[in-house]
Amino acid sequence: MSATAASVTRHDWSLAEVKALFEQPFNDLIFQAQGVHRQHFDANRVQVSTLLSIKTGACPEDCKYCPQSGHYNTGLDKEKLMEVQKVLDAAADAKAIGSTRFCMGAAWKHPSAKDMPYVLKMVEGVKAMGLETCMTLGKLDQEQTRALAAAGLDYYNHNLDTSPEFYGNIITTRTYADRLETLSYVRDAGMKICSGGILGMGESLDDRAGLLIQLANLPEHPESVPINMLVKVKGTPLADEQDVDPFDFIRMLAVARIMMPKSHVRLSAGREQMNEQTQAMAFLAGANSIFYGEKLLTTPNPEANKDMQLFSKLGIKPEAYEVHEDESEQEAIIVNKLQEAAMDSLFYNAAK
Ligand code: SF4
Repeated sequence: MSATAASVTRHDWSLAEVKALFEQPFNDLIFQAQGVHRQHFDANRVQVSTLLSIKTGACPEDCKYCPQSGHYNTGLDKEKLMEVQKVLDAAADAKAIGSTRFCMGAAWKHPSAKDMPYVLKMVEGVKAMGLETCMTLGKLDQEQTRALAAAGLDYYNHNLDTSPEFYGNIITTRTYADRLETLSYVRDAGMKICSGGILGMGESLDDRAGLLIQLANLPEHPESVPINMLVKVKGTPLADEQDVDPFDFIRMLAVARIMMPKSHVRLSAGREQMNEQTQAMAFLAGANSIFYGEKLLTTPNPEANKDMQLFSKLGIKPEAYEVHEDESEQEAIIVNKLQEAAMDSLFYNAAK
């Protein structure tokens, strides 16, 4: 495929095809990905979200990469579900510095009946501020997905993490089929899906390709595809895994862009470890979404004003909230706010 050939949205990718994408010369892959990207997006815009941990640690799941799992001793301070008003205050701060989407994450296997009313209030309150809403709460049943959609939840994050074949090496407390079931309930309830995975857990190229095949061959592509670099946290079983070669990470972003041409591909956890050049290459490969703010759940995220400096160097502008009534006004707010350097105090620090 040339960079200018019209990209089509496909749901029938084979392993051989995807491996062929990965294995082509780097420059050809990036050229192709950038060509696909420009057919569907403004290449100089990046969507900006803020992530807040609304319930931290003591998770019953055993995800080997995660410092929040109750199975590992990582020294993380545990926190109960935050009060609704504190969440709304953090959302207001995120809006004030220009984020257009507010993502709320809870370290649960699934939300309990007791917690749901609070969670729904958070969604309603954040939505009423004019922000897009996103949550990650673990496994959901159909009743819960319907209730979240009715409260105004725009996106549900539920990562597949890796290929079905490798999944059991990383998580034993739930199955791949559980994950796919929750994703189907989220879709049926009319919400958008945010789902991706992690590189650097000891997976093979086939596993990376296998993850992207699972995502791209869903009946509808996830609107948001976070691609994470493992953040190695002492105390987790993956603390001593080998680093991923940055070029392999960029290849993953580029192949995701080609396979899911209309999705936002998010450069997600692990950005702290990347230099500016690697991040610039990620944008060139078609990544067009980032988390912005001081903390990404419980691992460090580059400081927000560093992000703005990089955006400025690259001529990148934040993407406006697409349903805002006056997009130019929103953009002006975002640009002005994001360029203010003294913003650190505006962030909730999930690690404190
Ligand atoms: S990744 Fe999520 S589900 Fe897994 S242990 Fe961490 S908080 Fe729990």
